[in-house]
Amino acid sequence: MVQLIFLGSCVHAASESDAAFKARKAQAQTNFAQLLKATDLKRNDLVWTSGDCPVCSPLNGTTYPDGWTTPPPLHHNCDCVIDVQPKAK
Ligand SMILES: [Zn+2]
Repeated sequence: MVQLIFLGSCVHAASESDAAFKARKAQAQTNFAQLLKATDLKRNDLVWTSGDCPVCSPLNGTTYPDGWTTPPPLHHNCDCVIDVQPKAK
């Protein structure tokens, strides 16, 4: 009798490979360095904006550098972005 057992791990369709994640993170850090240079932090806030990212939801709405200093993505499939918003007066 032949028994077929599938032991594959559950791979979510949208899951991201390590290589893709590292590349995305490296690119994000380059982009963020440019954004920091281009943004006047006296007039604008860099606001963490999470999509449907439960891991990062505590960071949602917090600003650089008090709330966070490392730009997204923080983890695989992280789809958070940084918004530039004029500071409230
Ligand atoms: Zn995230």
